Amino acid sequence: MAAPVGGSGGRMSTTQGFTVAIDGPAASGKGTISKAVAAHFGFAHLDTGLLYRAVGAKVLLGQDAAEAARALVPADLDADNLRTPDVAQAASRAAALPQVRAALVDFQRSFALRAGGAVLDGRDIGTVICPGAQVKLFVIADAVVRARRRFEELSGKGIDTSFEEVLADVEARDARDRGRADAPLKPAEDAVEIDTSDMAIADAVATAVALIEAKRPV
Ligand code: C5P
Repeated sequence: MAAPVGGSGGRMSTTQGFTVAIDGPAASGKGTISKAVAAHFGFAHLDTGLLYRAVGAKVLLGQDAAEAARALVPADLDADNLRTPDVAQAASRAAALPQVRAALVDFQRSFALRAGGAVLDGRDIGTVICPGAQVKLFVIADAVVRARRRFEELSGKGIDTSFEEVLADVEARDARDRGRADAPLKPAEDAVEIDTSDMAIADAVATAVALIEAKRPV
């Protein structure tokens, strides 16, 4: 996918913006935290899972994963079927392919360098995409808690599924995302872990805001 307009592919510097990398397993709360901190600080936000979901959706339509990744355009991220469990599984399978990941690197790095600051959430942002990010958070929660949250979210959208199915999806994706050879899900050495299992959303967001505030240039 081509780099976004206004981006640059060079190395990070303070004048080029400020990057927050938020990684973690499925339904850990990283998306909610990312949106909230982006709104709080006025940073741009990229949910990088949508890139892989858009590729997964195209694979389900019969396209080759690597070709779909190379041909991806920003409008593909607005497709309305990207949140379904089938697309999530297809995304996770496509995400294990190095050619797919390679096709999506430049877009993500350029997004991270936009002026005004950026928050990217995903699996490999702090380790591979933005190893120089000024703030790295790794958001975790118990698998059962995560599955319950995702089940409620999907049910609220009218998607027909069961808690057991959602738990199986979350566990299968966790195992595949952690076990793959290229850019596996794992915390960067300098990431701060936030366990949201027993945390209210507001507390998790406040924790992230405080960590970012401490590193933000004045
Ligand atoms: O975050 P989300 O659940 O939408 O991601 C869907 C899938 O995309 C994940 O299970 C993972 O396999 C893949 N992904 C990835 N790297 C990222 C973001 C998502 O491999 N940075």
